[in-house]
Amino acid sequence: MVRRRQIYEGKAKILYEGPEPGTLIQYFKDDATAFNAQKRGTISGKGVLNNRISEHIFVALQTIGVPTHFIRRINMREQLVRQVEIVPIEVVVRNVAAGSLSKRLGIEEGTQLPRTIIEYYYKDDALGDPMIADEHIACFGWASQDEMNDIADMAIRVNDFMCGLFAGIGIRLVDFKLEFGRLYDGDFSRIILADEISPDGCRLWDMKSNEKLDKDRFRQNLGGEAEAYQEVARRLGLLPEDSEESAVLDLDSHRKKRGR
Ligand code: UDP
Repeated sequence: MVRRRQIYEGKAKILYEGPEPGTLIQYFKDDATAFNAQKRGTISGKGVLNNRISEHIFVALQTIGVPTHFIRRINMREQLVRQVEIVPIEVVVRNVAAGSLSKRLGIEEGTQLPRTIIEYYYKDDALGDPMIADEHIACFGWASQDEMNDIADMAIRVNDFMCGLFAGIGIRLVDFKLEFGRLYDGDFSRIILADEISPDGCRLWDMKSNEKLDKDRFRQNLGGEAEAYQEVARRLGLLPEDSEESAVLDLDSHRKKRGR
């Protein structure tokens, strides 16, 4: 047995060397962190669900012409992806006020924004991922103007697509975070979507009840996080039908336990 080489370990994923040059294996853990890793825990089964949810969304995005690093799912917790150079910017897209936007600007959570907002954060855990402007990106050379145009265009396309996808299953896409990478081809590189799209990096609210179906359940100690992730997967049609009832029942019983 040859032990495969670990390239990187993040908070929720591990990257291993892939079977061919230019590929990586992305392994999804159950570990969850919040508030810049000051709060740590696990959400049982999260890795399996995020692997499936992210696969589903990335495959769908590819069919509408958004290039992504996703190649194929390998097993329950792993997918094969293209190796890219990650652009050190977290791209946040917002449709509804929540989280840091509400806190920073005093806008009530749940307020529909009159237009979609794109924000950029510098990916640096030691600095706590500070918010940055285009000026900083240009000044420090984190991405070129052409790359930023591609990133902003793709972020809007991803948002339009995902708003529709989630609306179709009764979920409001409040906000989400994207990461992009450079795919090299000789002397040239192009920007493609990387990382993952899952309830870890999205705010997803049930359209009728406003119930949170994402990592805010963990951040805010609401409980029922595993059931919430299952519910998203179930509505996307990614869980076998016979688990449909159990996921709903779990969430219901959880609500009852909390007296709501
Ligand atoms: N987000 C993320 N990783 C981060 C910061 C934010 O995935 O390091 C996601 C988060 O889940 C939410 C969106 O980006 O869907 C906007 O997050 P916000 O800026 O409101 O920060 P938060 O309130 O999560 O600290």
